[in-house]
Amino acid sequence: MATKQIAVLTSGGDAQGMNAAVRAVIRTALDRGCEVYAIYEGYQGLVDGGERIRKMDWDSVGGILQQGGTIIGTARCDDFRTREGRRIAALHLMQHGIDGLIVIGGDGSLTGADLFRREWPALLSELVQNGEISAEAAAAHPNLLIVGMVGSIDNDFSGTEMTIGADSALHRITDAVDAITSTAASHQRTFIVKVMGRNCGYLALYGALATGADWVLIPEAPPDVDNWQDVMVERLKAGTKAGRRDHIVIMAEGAQDRYGNYIGSADVQRVLEEGLGEEVRTTVLGHVQRGGRPSAYDRNLATLLGYEAVIAILEAKSEDEPILIGTKANRIVRLPLMESVQKTREVAEAIKARDYEKAMALRSSSFKDAFSTLKTMIRALPHPPEPGQKRFRIAVFNAGAPSPGMNTAGRAAVRLGLDSGHIMLGVNNGFEGLAEGQVKEMVWTSVSGWASLGGSMLGTSRKVPKGKDLYEIARAIENHHIDAMLVIGGWNAYEGIHAMISERLNFPAFNIPIACLPASISNNLPGSEFSIGADTALNNIVDAVDKIKQSAVATRRCFVVEVMGHWCGYLALEAALATGAERFYLPEEGITLKQLQEDVHTLERGFNMGKRLGLVIRNEDANPIYTTAFICALFEEEGKDVFDVRPAILGHLQQGGDPSPFDRIQATRLARLCVEQLIKQCNEGDTTGSFIGLQNGKFSFHDMRDFDRMADLARQRPREQWWLQLKPIASLMAKLKPESA
Ligand code: ATP
Ligand code: MG
Repeated sequence: MATKQIAVLTSGGDAQGMNAAVRAVIRTALDRGCEVYAIYEGYQGLVDGGERIRKMDWDSVGGILQQGGTIIGTARCDDFRTREGRRIAALHLMQHGIDGLIVIGGDGSLTGADLFRREWPALLSELVQNGEISAEAAAAHPNLLIVGMVGSIDNDFSGTEMTIGADSALHRITDAVDAITSTAASHQRTFIVKVMGRNCGYLALYGALATGADWVLIPEAPPDVDNWQDVMVERLKAGTKAGRRDHIVIMAEGAQDRYGNYIGSADVQRVLEEGLGEEVRTTVLGHVQRGGRPSAYDRNLATLLGYEAVIAILEAKSEDEPILIGTKANRIVRLPLMESVQKTREVAEAIKARDYEKAMALRSSSFKDAFSTLKTMIRALPHPPEPGQKRFRIAVFNAGAPSPGMNTAGRAAVRLGLDSGHIMLGVNNGFEGLAEGQVKEMVWTSVSGWASLGGSMLGTSRKVPKGKDLYEIARAIENHHIDAMLVIGGWNAYEGIHAMISERLNFPAFNIPIACLPASISNNLPGSEFSIGADTALNNIVDAVDKIKQSAVATRRCFVVEVMGHWCGYLALEAALATGAERFYLPEEGITLKQLQEDVHTLERGFNMGKRLGLVIRNEDANPIYTTAFICALFEEEGKDVFDVRPAILGHLQQGGDPSPFDRIQATRLARLCVEQLIKQCNEGDTTGSFIGLQNGKFSFHDMRDFDRMADLARQRPREQWWLQLKPIASLMAKLKPESA
């Protein structure tokens, strides 16, 4: 029998995005006809009962999506660690007939939940014996169902690839390190930045990768030599000699040496001051990392997890083991909760036992790859080529509209190519520049500082080569003896390469390996679930909409926000999910007059029910006739006495700004794979043209000749788009309060 009374609580350390999870749990549960309660102050609220267990309605979670922390409070609670505390907790749940509990917290909180579930039947019989509940009541709720979600900025949980809050914490870290880097470079200084993570180096490692830091210390992989201090100092000195003006060392709070001795930031500071003979500053980021508004990713992840948690608890059979809702390969998954807790603890135990090989083995393969990539990127200079090694000339360029992360990808490609002994060429201004022969050799320091820069340092152009351009490009390839090409760009880049490959018979020079790396804010490229820049653009939109929403506190107003994406509705849908928009218009569905009429009525009804703000997100090409101006005019006229309407066309702010941490990390990973692939192809004489992507959790290359088969050329988007399945969830979350709730 499905549970009809469900409760949700947040416990342990807070994390950005917990509110989105709570909102999703409450709204999904109400939508499914459940009664839903929030337990305030974590397990303490269960033990205290009374006012701390509150029935929630649709509007009690309005306006919290963009807030950091958790509005229902969190706590550490010693009482709940005792059986007596849990007995009282059971009594308080039984007073409301609650026998489904959704817990958002860390390993401790989830372990507590599991213990509670196992003890439940015994706790209830005790309550019956004491006459605190009736035997019938106990018989009606023989089991407690538990579903967990991990809220933790550390991303320290096995089974789920991301935990709620980790992406936002990375945003805080990259913002801080970017800021520190600019002052460090001005004064030619060295900075140590200490980030959170007791048993998990995720934040330190990915923070370092995203910011182009020079050294990193993480608990799972301590320096593998005893004199690591000397090695670090030598490496930084070599960096100065090679022209670096600043040094950033990022360390996790759990950093240790290979004997398990704790490494403090003061130790590192002393070593560096003595070794470099200069002042070294330390910044401990501390709680800044936990605070602030959740990133777009965290809002959407938490919303999807919260939705799935309710579905899982309604589907669970009473005797089922507790379930953890997590994410894997960009999909929401259900996992056995205690097995995941167990594996998570194994990492901590391995570190404690100084079995670092095991600790690293328990981490994901992407974590290991990231660590090895970082070790190359932080070199002062590349390894010299092997004697007698074949050195290929690999050209890198950008094409299509600028997309944040293009520079990060270019930097990684150039450094990783140089480190493998090859000659890296930078091409300015896309296909146009290539046709004009704007090709120059790049060195290690040509890309210094590019990791965090938005825009395109190489320059990009939207021009797709045709006719005479192809002839000139072929000549440039021959003149510069280009052996392989990496193109970082969007739709036009793919079209251009597709055109070149189709003309190979006429232009033999095009018979070289070419790889396209998806970089487009629209996320409209085939073969990849994500393209570089889309996450940054999404965060830009979400930031702007948060501000727009705040501006409208006093009036009854509806905003129609127009976002980019051309014929791909990705940004519009993800932005609607992350901002709680009432309605979204996608080019995949178009817009009809009938729909618009319904939407006016819904808006009117909402404002009449007391809403103060309406939010509609429209993709720029959702419909050529029903433009943003048209929709605004229509709503304004129809909503006359009830609400007014304002357009907000976000425009190019979406393409600008420094890349988000996710885009930087993704750009680095994709660039590494592309360069490795091109080198391999050069060695094997394989000239297949390809585009790379991440799909179902796997990176793979697709043959460029499949481009037109995988993409809808007229509408410039992939034929299959994974994110369309999120539409019903976005619609559910933003519904008006149902009549019954
Ligand atoms: P984080 O480590 O991310 O801050 P956490 O959930 O691991 O989060 P803890 O302090 O370990 O944080 O646990 C939070 C609360 O969960 C505890 O204060 C306690 O009330 C409850 N709890 C933890 N472990 C147990 C346990 N073994 N038995 C009963 N309750 C527990
Ligand atoms: Mg913990």
